[in-house]
Amino acid sequence: MRFNESNQEFFLGPIQACQVGYSLDPEIRVRSASGGMVSSILIHLLESGQVEGALCVRLRVGPKGLKAAPYIATDREEVLSAAGSIYLEVNPLSNREMIKNFPGRLAMVGLPCHLEMLERISQDDDDLRQKIVLTLGLFCGHNSRRELIETVLARRGVDLEEVAAFRFRRGLWRGRSWLHYTDGKAENFPFQAFSRYQNLHFFTLRRCLRCADHCAETADLSVGDLWAQRFKGKDIKHSALLMRGERGVEVAQEMVSAGKLHLEPCTPGEVFQAQKRALTCHKSLYARSKLAPYFGFRVPPAAKTPTPWNHWLATFILLVNAKWSYSPRFKKLIFKLPKPLLQAYLLVFKGLTHI
Ligand SMILES: Cc1cc2nc3c(=O)[nH]c(=O)nc-3n(C[C@H](O)[C@H](O)[C@H](O)COP(=O)(O)OP(=O)(O)OC[C@H]3O[C@@H](n4cnc5c(N)ncnc54)[C@H](O)[C@@H]3O)c2cc1C
Ligand code: SF4
Repeated sequence: MRFNESNQEFFLGPIQACQVGYSLDPEIRVRSASGGMVSSILIHLLESGQVEGALCVRLRVGPKGLKAAPYIATDREEVLSAAGSIYLEVNPLSNREMIKNFPGRLAMVGLPCHLEMLERISQDDDDLRQKIVLTLGLFCGHNSRRELIETVLARRGVDLEEVAAFRFRRGLWRGRSWLHYTDGKAENFPFQAFSRYQNLHFFTLRRCLRCADHCAETADLSVGDLWAQRFKGKDIKHSALLMRGERGVEVAQEMVSAGKLHLEPCTPGEVFQAQKRALTCHKSLYARSKLAPYFGFRVPPAAKTPTPWNHWLATFILLVNAKWSYSPRFKKLIFKLPKPLLQAYLLVFKGLTHI
């Protein structure tokens, strides 16, 4: 699919300004999923008194395994305790009482569907609308059922009862997953151990099949990875920052002036290229709505959009894999696929979405 001015808004949503960069605070970068941009912005908003709390989500390891829950951070350390990407179902808006009872203004981080939910519920809830004064959206290809990460960890022989903390991804480029044990030891393994299944849409959430918002189009500021060749060898991971309104532009400028963020020019076309595979796949909602009934999934009718043959085929593969991983009888076979075969399958899938 080709990107041009006429389809820019369809793919990326409304944009006032577009830049690429990272947090200038090394500690924030080390503890974050990518360039630490999101945590840096939250800390700046808190420390400059523009909000009193940051509504985010935190991952904990408890007696029942991995658990992600909404959380209101009120200082730097609390923001950093929630840093990182969580590939599990979690809704920052699920604890409405906690939000309602919080005495002050909030900034909120969320996936595109969370921010869309915020828009919807705040139409009838004036208090919520006034409480959340700035939204930060994460780019999102899709999310996965808990079963995927728990199976990946179990197959590596990890006993979650011995784990104190887990991070899905840290570090440069593709990153590594980290396990911190209760006895103080730590180990890491390539994020790919999880992402090679995730990228093939095994164990994808049903609601992701119905979603076409990749870049958090309703956020004030949207952040995502910039998988561009020019950043591949760099020792700092760069993120794209899409500023959607005046407020977002102001915050970014303030932070650059205060020496908290490094930002440099980048075009919307570069963001499209960097996200092309996941983004064009995500936007193929029309194809999903047409093919989903053959797999027993419900996807409401979607407006017709140009869908070349390769996206029909990629959508077919995506639905096969989603369906396969919902089958109690056959899902175990997914983990029996030899790694080279899985890798070849992924290459074919990626190739189809890259044309
Ligand atoms: C399910 C999922 C899918 C993603 N898909 C893509 C993609 O296709 N392309 C891409 O470029 N980027 C994707 N990202 C975003 C990317 O992984 C980084 O989160 C983003 O670039 C911000 O990096 P950072 O270092 O600035 O964030 P950090 O400074 O680490 O801050 C991340 C913030 O996000 C919050 N958060 C983490 N996970 C969730 C969640 N599940 N729901 C709500 N809030 C959460 C945390 O509480 C934290 O405050 C995805 C993230 C998730 C969670
Ligand atoms: S793909 Fe859409 S529905 Fe799924 S987690 Fe991402 S934003 Fe939410």
